[in-house]
Amino acid sequence: MSRTTRTVVVGAGLGGLAVAARLAAGGHDVTVLEAADRVGGKLGTVRVDGFRFDTGPSLVTMPPVLERLFADTGAPMSEVLDLQRLDVAARYRFGDGVELDLPGERSAIAPALDDALGAGAGAQWEAFLRHAERVWDATHEHFLSSPVSAAGLARLSLRVRDLLAVAPWRSLRGVGARYLRDERLGMLLDRYATYSGSDPRRAPAALAVVPYVEQEFGSWYVRGGLRGLAEAVADRCRSLGVVIRTGARVHRVERRDGRVSGVRLGSGERVPADVVVANADASTVYGPRGLLPHPAQARRLARTMPSSSGFVLLLGLDGRDPSTPHHRVLFPPSRAAYDAEFDAYRGAAPPDAPTVYVHAPDDPALRHDDDCEAWFVLVTAPRHAPGRGVDWDAPGLAQRYAERVLALMAERGVDVRHRVRTCTVRTPADLERETLSPGGSIYGTSSDGALAAFLRPANRSPVPGLYLVGGSSHPGGGLPLVTLSAEITARLVLRA
Ligand SMILES: Cc1cc2nc3c(=O)[nH]c(=O)nc-3n(C[C@H](O)[C@H](O)[C@H](O)COP(=O)(O)OP(=O)(O)OC[C@H]3O[C@@H](n4cnc5c(N)ncnc54)[C@H](O)[C@@H]3O)c2cc1C
Repeated sequence: MSRTTRTVVVGAGLGGLAVAARLAAGGHDVTVLEAADRVGGKLGTVRVDGFRFDTGPSLVTMPPVLERLFADTGAPMSEVLDLQRLDVAARYRFGDGVELDLPGERSAIAPALDDALGAGAGAQWEAFLRHAERVWDATHEHFLSSPVSAAGLARLSLRVRDLLAVAPWRSLRGVGARYLRDERLGMLLDRYATYSGSDPRRAPAALAVVPYVEQEFGSWYVRGGLRGLAEAVADRCRSLGVVIRTGARVHRVERRDGRVSGVRLGSGERVPADVVVANADASTVYGPRGLLPHPAQARRLARTMPSSSGFVLLLGLDGRDPSTPHHRVLFPPSRAAYDAEFDAYRGAAPPDAPTVYVHAPDDPALRHDDDCEAWFVLVTAPRHAPGRGVDWDAPGLAQRYAERVLALMAERGVDVRHRVRTCTVRTPADLERETLSPGGSIYGTSSDGALAAFLRPANRSPVPGLYLVGGSSHPGGGLPLVTLSAEITARLVLRA
């Protein structure tokens, strides 16, 4: 590509911004068109009565992927963001009331498990992690850093030892059962499937890499809030000459002589382009009313399962408790209750007793004053699907469910109802409206099913000049994978 290649990126989520920065650094003339009035997509933020809340991600894993983005496009990440490794990854509370502070360093995990869950628990988990490490070694280079292809799959399959480790015929639950006899360890493992909006009974055993990555490379926080990540990448884009336009919704990707020639905005304005990179959800690109309908791609997408969504409470709380953990997970009473939660992802009502996740960073930038705390409370929830599933806009539902979540927290030993100064409720319908993610799905497509990873749309589309980036395309959702997606897509575009 010549230095004057005109590239339009549709959407300013992390994937769109990261690919824009990389392409601008590679000499492209880049314009980012974002429908919302601010950049960042799911990396959102709101201010309420002097509190500031992140509305999206709260956990950073695999920071080297982010470091590479900044290093490849200018000054190192350490000059623009303050990433901190957590000493305690999370406090887990199980149905029997036992609490586990999971250390942020792998070497400390087995002794902590023995202390909290009984002798032998650490050895079970460590044996599982050694298995997960083999899966990581077998897959990360082929799968996470390359465009997915049948050839890639075949290369992977040739190595019998690796294939046995990856075990594509087995579920995450199934591989866990080989190592983890303590039901609580099984629930801990199940939890990691939800990092991609998946059900551990359907997610492939290869997702064992998720706990491995977190526990080997650490859990991290961005001081000042994770929203800072989106702002830092947007700043990097601007410093490289990228034009970022907000309030600019793209309605169509246009083609001339078989290859993309530009995009048409809702206002009717046409923006010419030699290359278009879509950071919009793949189903809104290829679907029948999409930006560039493509029946074959749409059929393939129809075989995937969109990821679950999230129901969020943003709590401004009176008073401060210095012992509040950074991350806290309050499990349901039993494995059977956890399974009922996974069943509900596809059902017509939100789960009655879901796992509750609390993010309560001790960060002065987020709180009103020193006598209060800002909490982000998340439960995994079915997508917004009026007529087919849960209608999150149904009168009274959000308020009733918010009260239910606060009551569940109280039942599980965290009663903050008397401390609530402000409570902002955000449903899957809100997420859909704000980020144009269908149904408010958090991660694009889930990993449910042995073939999910290979059905996810490729970063290079069959339409010449059109590329995809972000959680609904290869290699999937979550901050590290979306950043990797930008790395893979930029490489494909720059080498085209
Ligand atoms: C509540 C919540 C909690 C999460 N927790 C974590 C976590 O702890 N750790 C983690 O790693 N990940 C987490 N995630 C997932 C993570 O936020 C996402 O995977 C990631 O931010 C998605 O980035 P993306 O580039 O795919 O695009 P998105 O953030 O989805 O952005 C896409 C952008 O494209 C724009 N757009 C769409 N269509 C058009 C159009 N036609 N024209 C113009 N613009 C358009 C949208 O407005 C949006 O801004 C969480 C997400 C949520 C919502």
